[in-house]
Amino acid sequence: MSAVHSTRMLILGSGPAGLSAAIYGARAGLAPIVVQGLQPGGQLTITTDVENYPGFRDVIQGPWLMEEMQAQAEHVGAQMMWDTIVDVDLSERPFKLTGDGGATYVCDTLVIATGAQAKWLGLESEQKLRGQGVSACATCDGFFFRGKKVAVIGGGNTAVEEALYLTNHSHDVTLIHRRDSLRAEKILQDRLFAHPNIDIIWDSEVVEFVGGGDPEALVGLDIRNKHTGAISRVECDGAFVAIGHKPATELFEGQIDLDSDGYIRVQVGTTKTNIPGVFACGDVMDKIYRQAVTAAGTGCMAALDAERFLAAQEFEALAAE
Ligand code: FAD
Ligand code: NAP
Repeated sequence: MSAVHSTRMLILGSGPAGLSAAIYGARAGLAPIVVQGLQPGGQLTITTDVENYPGFRDVIQGPWLMEEMQAQAEHVGAQMMWDTIVDVDLSERPFKLTGDGGATYVCDTLVIATGAQAKWLGLESEQKLRGQGVSACATCDGFFFRGKKVAVIGGGNTAVEEALYLTNHSHDVTLIHRRDSLRAEKILQDRLFAHPNIDIIWDSEVVEFVGGGDPEALVGLDIRNKHTGAISRVECDGAFVAIGHKPATELFEGQIDLDSDGYIRVQVGTTKTNIPGVFACGDVMDKIYRQAVTAAGTGCMAALDAERFLAAQEFEALAAE
């Protein structure tokens, strides 16, 4: 028979938001259970240098930071589960959720910290060549392109960081962006523009990931200039799509209020969703800041909101006796 786990606070996600909620929830005596999902530690586990998380004078590594956060959460009493939630019933409390191995989770409060996933351009050739030269994670796959030509698509912080990171492996990096200016932070832009091994192609979109050879692998990108319409080929062995992320909210569609981009709506200044007892924190509810420190901050808020919700429920129950 499948296991049943009951808790006063269930946390979905083990990125900075979920683990911060776990630390606060555990210290409030709520014995939280954290369901870690397919990416334990969240998005920071696929990056290297982190230099804007407060408290560290020197550059730290994303995976290390997340290991420390998890260890801290466990140290104060949070329980980690290697599971992924595949079904959610929020129609009544206690809420019921199901893991992919069939385990049931029953909880008085739910903290959703499922973060975001990489977006793809949506071309058939991109899908076909994923893993054969097309990737969404330079820090994971850049190593495979040592001494080869690579391209990065996008103009945000991720794209610029990926381009800079790839220069560790490649002397020939091209950044392709659909506009004529980047949205990345200025400090990153300065590093990008100053780098001798990075070229930038502006105002251009990828129309085809071109495969060749046997077994087939990426050999280039066909790009279209958005002003002239001219199509040209950028030869490369690796292409890194870095065009942002989409919130992991499919599970909650039809059950929780989402905005038009799929982010969970919360009451301004809180982490409260439209369902009493369900709270959302981190990138899954934040499409503006999307930083580890803001995710951690809203994770703390979610735990405090959940704790106050439970206290109010208990007070009402006592008053009714
Ligand atoms: P995430 O980190 O996305 O974690 C989501 C968690 O939810 C994961 O553990 C996942 O397994 C889990 N999950 C998802 N679905 C389910 C499910 N169905 N059941 C159970 N669990 C589930 N920010 C900075 O501040 N500084 C940086 O230097 C920086 N560098 C970055 C570099 C890269 C390449 C990327 C992609 C992002 C970077 N960011 C950086 C942004 C930062 O990583 C995110 O803002 C932060 O990780 C968001 O935290 P989160 O906890 O909300 O979600
Ligand atoms: P982002 O800021 O949303 O940028 C996405 C980029 O991809 C934009 O330049 C966008 O172009 C482009 N793009 C989107 N859809 C596209 C499409 N279909 N075709 C071509 N280009 C497309 O995403 P991100 O860079 O992943 O960053 C996400 C969040 O994480 C941000 O808040 C960022 O600050 C944070 N982050 C922080 C750090 C750091 O602090 N060091 C590092 C990485 C990420 P337009 O500009 O034209 O819209």
